[in-house]
Amino acid sequence: MSDVVHIGLGSNLGDRVAAIFEALERLDDCDGVSVVRVSTLLESEPVDVVDQPCFVNAAASVRTVLRPEAFLAMLLQVEEAMGRDRGGVVPRGPRSIDLDILLWGDERVETADLTVPHPRLHERAFVLVPLVEIAETLTHPVLNESMANLLTQEIACNGPVDLRCRMLARGSLQDESGFHGPRMEEDA
Ligand code: AMP
Repeated sequence: MSDVVHIGLGSNLGDRVAAIFEALERLDDCDGVSVVRVSTLLESEPVDVVDQPCFVNAAASVRTVLRPEAFLAMLLQVEEAMGRDRGGVVPRGPRSIDLDILLWGDERVETADLTVPHPRLHERAFVLVPLVEIAETLTHPVLNESMANLLTQEIACNGPVDLRCRMLARGSLQDESGFHGPRMEEDA
């Protein structure tokens, strides 16, 4: 019996696109985990700590027989294996790879180490845009809203999404040249 889990991926250091794909491959190689669907990658303006390079983000749906705590431990291992440095870094600052559990089916998980649905999922266009692409009708089990409605609400609060997130064409994903941290307004 496996569960469907939605995860968020982000990177704003080094070859960001390659890091997203490497993380997906590493996850798919883990026992009891298979990646089912991956969104288009997008480039997003940083939030919270704004003085840092733009991120590349994606969302993926994954099937797993693991339980949430074991799945989280596996995500942390992948981050570590990919050189994620947690020592002395600014919280929510630059990172080579960041993996978050966004949704665990319609379950709620609340432990000392884990909150699912991810507590900031509904506040972030860079999470909602790729989630709408792969799971438009999925309902947030706490807020009881579809991902599409949550994105509409986020845009009503924070303004047009195309000023903050830029879809990266799938054809360009093999070669990231040209995407090394340009600000989106310079790109217009
Ligand atoms: P960060 O890598 O900065 O996003 O923080 C990772 C830490 O956040 C993990 O070690 C978890 O203990 C905690 N955490 C709480 N909820 C979640 C979640 N839904 N997904 C991933 N990490 C979470």
